[in-house]
Amino acid sequence: MIKENLQAVQTNIYAACKAVGRPVDSVTLIAVSKTKPPEMISEAIAAGQLVFGENKPQELRDKYELFAEKKELQWHMIGNLQKNKIKYVVGTAVLIHSVDSLELARAISEEAEKKHLVCDILLEVNIANEPTKHGFQEEILWNQLPELEQLPHIRLRGLMTVAPYTENPEENRHYFAKMKQLLIDIKSKTHDNSYMDILSMGMTSDYQVAIEEGATMVRVGTGIFGERTYPL
Ligand SMILES: *Cc1c(COP(=O)(O)O)cnc(C)c1O
Repeated sequence: MIKENLQAVQTNIYAACKAVGRPVDSVTLIAVSKTKPPEMISEAIAAGQLVFGENKPQELRDKYELFAEKKELQWHMIGNLQKNKIKYVVGTAVLIHSVDSLELARAISEEAEKKHLVCDILLEVNIANEPTKHGFQEEILWNQLPELEQLPHIRLRGLMTVAPYTENPEENRHYFAKMKQLLIDIKSKTHDNSYMDILSMGMTSDYQVAIEEGATMVRVGTGIFGERTYPL
């Protein structure tokens, strides 16, 4: 089932790229395996999927260690991150998508320094200004950008958003377009912008629209692994 789901998602990604004249390899599919057991991850790996997303730091670290011999795998941290959990993901996650404050970015930089590495991060944006959502508000992001840029052990790689929940993906199109424009604007104003090229947006319900509006990473869970037994 996972293999068929993956193929269906890949077909949709291909179609969305084609619709707007983007090369299909400009989009990375992150299979969101949160709450799902290792057997299902193995099934996805057997079907050729090597990039996974987790939203809990310890769960990411545990799965990273479980599959440690598979060096070709990539683990992405996509969920809310508390400062005391940073140690689990710096050095295990290839990219932290969910950096939503200057304070958190600073703490990640310090942990990366301890581990003698530079950590790739995305800045999470609350593009629809939803009170229940994490993420920078645009104005705060602009204010803090100069300081974010100065942090020595992080590399700003782009932006991420979790768009509002909706049954109709078209309702999120303007938010995705706004994210794309924000990335362009920030890239043009940042000092060392050479790495600012990732736009992580789109989930099971809206990844095709997100791709049409410029997503370079989509995070698909349910569409690959099926419903989660508890919603996270
Ligand atoms: C769970 C999760 C996803 C995947 O959601 P689906 O609707 O199951 O595709 C994507 N992004 C984040 C941040 C998540 O927590």
